[in-house]
Amino acid sequence: MDNPLLDTRAGALPAFAAIRPEHVEPALQDTLAANRATLERLLATSREAAPSFEDLILPLEELGDRLQHVWSPVSHLHAVANTPGLREVYNRCLPLLARYQTEIAQNAELYRLFAAVAQTVPEGRADGARALLDHALRDFRLAGVTLPPEKKQRFMEIMEALAGKQALFEQNLLDAMAAWSHHETDAAKLDGIPANTLERAAEAARAAGREGWLFHLDQPSYVAVLTHARNRELRALFHRAWSTRASDQAPSPPGLDNGPLMDEILALRHEAAELVGYTDFAEYSLATKMAASVPEVRTFLERLVVASRFAGRSEFAELEAHAGHALEPWDVAFHAEELRLRKFAISDEELRLYFPLPRVLEGLFALVGRLYGLRLEADGQVAVWHPTARYFRVLDSDGTPIGGLYMDLYARPEKRSGAWMDDCISRKRLDGRLQLPVAHLVCNFAPPTATAPSLLSHDEVLTLFHEMGHALHHLLTRIDYPSISGIHGVPWDAVELPSQFMEGFAWEPEILAMISGHHESGLPLPPELVERLRQSRVFHGALHMLRQLEFSLFDLRIHAEYSPGQGGRIMKLLGEVRDAVAVVPAARYDRFPNGFAHIFGGGYAAGYYSYKWAEVLSSDAYAAFEEEGVLNPAPAARFRREILEVGGSRDIAAAFHAFRGRPPDIAALLRHSGITAAAASETGTGPAAA
Ligand code: ZN
Repeated sequence: MDNPLLDTRAGALPAFAAIRPEHVEPALQDTLAANRATLERLLATSREAAPSFEDLILPLEELGDRLQHVWSPVSHLHAVANTPGLREVYNRCLPLLARYQTEIAQNAELYRLFAAVAQTVPEGRADGARALLDHALRDFRLAGVTLPPEKKQRFMEIMEALAGKQALFEQNLLDAMAAWSHHETDAAKLDGIPANTLERAAEAARAAGREGWLFHLDQPSYVAVLTHARNRELRALFHRAWSTRASDQAPSPPGLDNGPLMDEILALRHEAAELVGYTDFAEYSLATKMAASVPEVRTFLERLVVASRFAGRSEFAELEAHAGHALEPWDVAFHAEELRLRKFAISDEELRLYFPLPRVLEGLFALVGRLYGLRLEADGQVAVWHPTARYFRVLDSDGTPIGGLYMDLYARPEKRSGAWMDDCISRKRLDGRLQLPVAHLVCNFAPPTATAPSLLSHDEVLTLFHEMGHALHHLLTRIDYPSISGIHGVPWDAVELPSQFMEGFAWEPEILAMISGHHESGLPLPPELVERLRQSRVFHGALHMLRQLEFSLFDLRIHAEYSPGQGGRIMKLLGEVRDAVAVVPAARYDRFPNGFAHIFGGGYAAGYYSYKWAEVLSSDAYAAFEEEGVLNPAPAARFRREILEVGGSRDIAAAFHAFRGRPPDIAALLRHSGITAAAASETGTGPAAA
């Protein structure tokens, strides 16, 4: 076989070194054609005799796995080893993939067969078979499979229109940002701005053939100016530019105003939700999530508001007292940074010296060994896509192999920014043979230099722990059906539970001792620095909480309260949410929704609350370790069995209950955010179940 992407033997690792752009489209076309042919055959057989789970669903699981074997290496390389050739073929293949997925989702005959098979599988079957079928049936219905032809047609049109409008929202935002710049020649006005930000601005000026500094409106520059610039007018200027992006208040071209588009997006979402039987888009969005209903989410968020508002007001009052004057929105980050430095004297650069990547990894592997008995063994023989990427075999406490982990941790120009975990191979046992799961863990840390190893900030340590939490969720699964094994089939608002949970360990003195070692002296982080780091964790915890709650409630309400007669009422609802939540004043010109790509660009629509929802779960799960001992293998074994192993096979609320012995409680999140139970109870509301 000369196309390495067509090696779909169970468990075969991708031949990363041999994959070329010219392999991609033929491999995908071949696989899609073969899958379609198999599907036709399965449907034909099913017309003769009613199929069983084994006759119909297992072969379909195989088709999905076969496609993953072809496409996962391609999308991975597109993210970490991008070349113009690969990008071109990747973009050409996306519509082929989308068409195939739509064909399946809209196949009414297949839907009826799934429904018939579901009748034969008892609810709660231990292997997750019934959960798999229930998820599939739900997704068929959400894709409009049961609609009569004209309504189905309309549903498809809406989905296409939405894809276009959501993309245009993001495009307008990018164009509006690109249309703005600020030129400065007076160095005195730039006082306080960090050197690397200034250097980029100086470079941009040189490239434009100008003197001085030319600032663009990218997020790092914006954050650097708002946090560090001493000049108040400069901060106000940047604040206005940022918070009016793509709006009627912006200096940018009027054609880039996202306002009308946002109303259209809300209207289309509402119409689509109604077509498939929901009262509004928020209800439609929650159909695939752990949270049961819109009122449940709203009550959850409002309880957190009540619990945090008193603490938020005190934090803001302390900040104004520190500044010595009333604070405008463009003053907050600047004075907060000053106050943080004064209170904790903690510097990222000082901390970095104690976190050389090899030491952190060694400590992280040791932690995973202590908790779950796992061993990770580097295997240099496995083909990778870059010399610094590594592959580890993952072994259980008794030496049994349980999976594999690729790590690619350094930033490179041809690599997408950010950090993520992705599944390379999913666990599968369909015909008696076991295919072990394999994960990708990708970060963008500064590479080592000739004289020093890669040195991580504590934030970057948290990132590494976070992604390791996702990887363990993928690797420790015991579920045999790929579509519900590992992270597959886990609701969006619960998928961050295992990852945020892992971050908790990176704040513990005993774990910090395991993962730190000065890159020259080898000495662990001094106790006094550990203490200051731990104290700084909760700095402005309530203010951050309130900001996230404001976004979450706004997102929920504009989707839940949309009415075709009244339109979006976006700024009106935002005003109501702010009145109820915010303690930091907003500027009159502020049009933050016009830049809220998380929800208007797609993805998090009526789902922004998921961040906080999952954080309640992860904080409360981690609190079990605080109670029983952070290195105690007993809660670890329970967490592994009840949460990490079950994938999407089990109701997460039930899984959480089994782990914790009770429903989730918001108290741990409040405590981890520095919001004391006392402050919460002064407002009359104690912690309550999430
Ligand atoms: Zn995550």
